Amino acid sequence: MMTPTHRRLGAATVLGLHTAAVGAALTPAGVLVAAVAAAVFSGGPTSPDVDNQPGAKAADRRLPDEALGHGGPLGHRRLAHWWGLPTALGVAYALGSYTVGYHPPALVWAALWGAWVGWLSHLPGDAVFGQGNWRYGLPKGIPLMPWWRHVGLGVKCGGKAERVVGRILAVAVAAGLVATAIGWHPAH
Ligand SMILES: [Zn+2]
Repeated sequence: MMTPTHRRLGAATVLGLHTAAVGAALTPAGVLVAAVAAAVFSGGPTSPDVDNQPGAKAADRRLPDEALGHGGPLGHRRLAHWWGLPTALGVAYALGSYTVGYHPPALVWAALWGAWVGWLSHLPGDAVFGQGNWRYGLPKGIPLMPWWRHVGLGVKCGGKAERVVGRILAVAVAAGLVATAIGWHPAH
């Protein structure tokens, strides 16, 4: 999936979860902060696609991570695209804040929630729109195991289908932002 579509999916996921009253209890300002954080952390270098940046690619060429088996953890749609990392971080955060009894200020929490949801939303995006490229040893989809056993539909990244989905997501984000701005919510 291309970066702009990822950002829309991230923001739409936060707005959709809020509308469905799942997860964080957010004020309208919190929803906006979470949506922006989701857009930032769902695409580009501040997302799982950190593994597709020039620096990461150069490091992958230099480091012998292939010795760890299955082609190694470095490389595009490998360890950085594994669902286990954000899941472990979320569990650690929940256990930590519960144990210590600390809860950050509402807008900080909104930003953390949005960043986490945005990062996670990247993964189903690539599971659908992520074709394999055997020249680079890249299977389609995202890894089920830390960096191997990829699963996905392998629909062409940036193709016609993704453009249609991108437009639908843009409408969903706009609708979610308008609903937040006018204070509309199905719960009240
Ligand atoms: Zn990706």
